[in-house]
Amino acid sequence: MKFEEFLKDFVPVVARKSKQLNKAYWILETTGSSDAADLKADLDTELRFLFNDPKIYEQLLAWEKEPHDPIAKRQINVLIRAFKQNQIPKQLLEEMAQKEAALAQSYANFRPELDGKKLSENEIRDILKNETDPEKRKKAWEASKQIGPILAPQILELVRLRNQSAKALGYSDYFQMQLDLQEVDSKWLLKTLDDLSEKSEKAYESVLSQIAQRQSQMFGTKELGPWSWSDPFCQEDPLDMKELDELVDGVDIAKASSDFYQNMGVDVGAILDRSDMYERSGKNQHAFCMNLDREGDVRTLNNVQPSIKWLETVLHELGHAIYELGFEKDLPWLLREPPHMIPTEAMALIAGRQAYRSQALKHLIGDQKEDLRNKADLSLRRRQLIFSRWVLVMTAFESELYRDPKQDLNQLWWKYVEKYQKIHKPENRENQFDWATKYHIGLAPVYYFSYLLGEMFASVIQECLIAECESSALNHPKAGEFLQKKLFGPGNRMSWSALVEHVTGKPLSSDAWVKEFAT
Ligand SMILES: [Zn+2]
Repeated sequence: MKFEEFLKDFVPVVARKSKQLNKAYWILETTGSSDAADLKADLDTELRFLFNDPKIYEQLLAWEKEPHDPIAKRQINVLIRAFKQNQIPKQLLEEMAQKEAALAQSYANFRPELDGKKLSENEIRDILKNETDPEKRKKAWEASKQIGPILAPQILELVRLRNQSAKALGYSDYFQMQLDLQEVDSKWLLKTLDDLSEKSEKAYESVLSQIAQRQSQMFGTKELGPWSWSDPFCQEDPLDMKELDELVDGVDIAKASSDFYQNMGVDVGAILDRSDMYERSGKNQHAFCMNLDREGDVRTLNNVQPSIKWLETVLHELGHAIYELGFEKDLPWLLREPPHMIPTEAMALIAGRQAYRSQALKHLIGDQKEDLRNKADLSLRRRQLIFSRWVLVMTAFESELYRDPKQDLNQLWWKYVEKYQKIHKPENRENQFDWATKYHIGLAPVYYFSYLLGEMFASVIQECLIAECESSALNHPKAGEFLQKKLFGPGNRMSWSALVEHVTGKPLSSDAWVKEFAT
């Protein structure tokens, strides 16, 4: 059989199944319907089985060796990676799926107990945001870690199975396999993150001392543990956030975002019409963007509230959405997607950053409140530095977790928290499995690094925008044109790293990010 003939039969089946899956997913996330959840799980399995046939996989490997035009070559490459991860023995695949579902359930159903009362995640976060008594904060933080010892054995069992599946495909461990399937070079990744860590160390330390100073004013000079921060993992900026919400007082966030994109030359009206924007019971409480059919049906889900975070989020999700709508029209279905999460995150992150940029805020909310707008600029810098350290912890830990799951992981976790976040291990954490409390460790593995690479790419793109349009602000038709042509247009024609070079003229590095946020 010829590759082109195979595509003619195969793609319509995959396209149809993935559209059905996406619709079930959309209904599930907007309603919480358990029927939709069942349907989604079935369709998920059916879609996976389309990429399961070892004979097709062999055939793809044979086609890979033949001469083809670049578009066919890339489609073969995309298919090989999709098939490869399904060439694991069926029994092992099923066992992993079951264990993941069980873990997700344990995670969703657990409620920590504080003074005899069960608390939700939001209630814990509220305490960390608002409570001024350090003892109560400490108790709430400790309660947020109660789930660790319960989840750790389940996660370790999954790590064992994931490593087993990676070894069956010839990889040393699951971390290495995932990076390879995502076209990320593991040596390059760890070196790049190390480099960023070194170059931003001083800037982070100065942010830390600013935070510690404020914390000791607020909570007294007693021991300032991780519970002095406003979230359980010390990954968010604990300063100034409430005040910044005044920036969006009386602002229609959806309209302000839509006008902003209009200035970029992009009409997001149709996307917003299809989107689900406001809170409702049963609905997913976070936000995401979804391309239902790769034919133009792109939607976002939000839960807009009058806060700077939601202005950022709406802009962010619309950034993903315009990327998804910007693929060249003649691209084949298989290539109508970003090559990796990194470039689409970069676009969404640039868009989200506008909510914290004094200049851009002028266009989003108007000319007033200059003091606050300047504070937003400072907050953006702090947020970048703080979040980057958190990604460094997550990535270093995950790579070691899969390399050797039998080592002392509690000690390893705090070693990296102390090294990168520079937050000291409180007493009696040795047997508490704090690493297991982060959702992504168990349920979104080998993924976190993309957020930081996305930030790095975002900063390089901003430099290109300054060169092209004399400003890194997005609300300019030239910025829209540049991004459309260079970043969105190619879709999955090339790997993410080739796309970075295509857009910026050089390989991805942390230089622009360091220059922007750490000097
Ligand atoms: Zn995103």
